[in-house]
Amino acid sequence: MGDASGKPGRNCALCPRLQAFRNDWRQREADWFNAPVPSFGPPDARLLIVGLAPGLRGANRTGRPFTGDFAGDLLYETLAHFGFARGRYQARPDDGLTLIDARITNAVRCVPPENKPTPAEIKTCRSFLEATIAEMTSLRAIVTLGRISHDSTIAALNHRRAAAPFSHGAAHEVGELRVFASYHCSRYNTNTGVLTPEMFRDVFAAARAYLDAESQSITSSAFLSGGNTG
Ligand code: URA
Repeated sequence: MGDASGKPGRNCALCPRLQAFRNDWRQREADWFNAPVPSFGPPDARLLIVGLAPGLRGANRTGRPFTGDFAGDLLYETLAHFGFARGRYQARPDDGLTLIDARITNAVRCVPPENKPTPAEIKTCRSFLEATIAEMTSLRAIVTLGRISHDSTIAALNHRRAAAPFSHGAAHEVGELRVFASYHCSRYNTNTGVLTPEMFRDVFAAARAYLDAESQSITSSAFLSGGNTG
């Protein structure tokens, strides 16, 4: 169902319920993407952002994570604010927006009915999340959006969930990585005030500071080891 690179094929049939839902929408909206949504951003990025699943009229329509979704407005604005995105987000996959040192993926690649993947679907799709993480050889930090994405990411990293529990603003060391947890930037969470733009920015500020400190320490150790040679 996935190809040799660990990516789901357009007609992935691992989750029969999601496959049926997708086929239904292929009939209804032939111009939509209606397929497992690939990750967006360079594979050599140091930051990975893990969302839940494509929105029906968002990523499932456009084929790019969070694109055309209400949640994308806050996410892409925040990424640009911290230098993780360049260009203007216009809710279209051809808007020219590029991610810098950051990549976005989803815990579940296909749109689920009512935005709710089942535990079995989350588990099945985890193999693609694992493959995404494995191919990111420069990966240093992950931002998880919502509890489902967080728990699935922790499981994909082969870490005990109890050792890295979800709570908004938490940061956990998981092996070589630091995992930052945020409430999902869904319309529901932002409209109800569960997540404010400031709260969301604080999580990305922490990820930015962590990555900046990492590059500083790499630069200074290179300087120190090079400094003795002459
Ligand atoms: N769009 C996505 O791609 N993922 C989400 O989690 C929400 C909206």
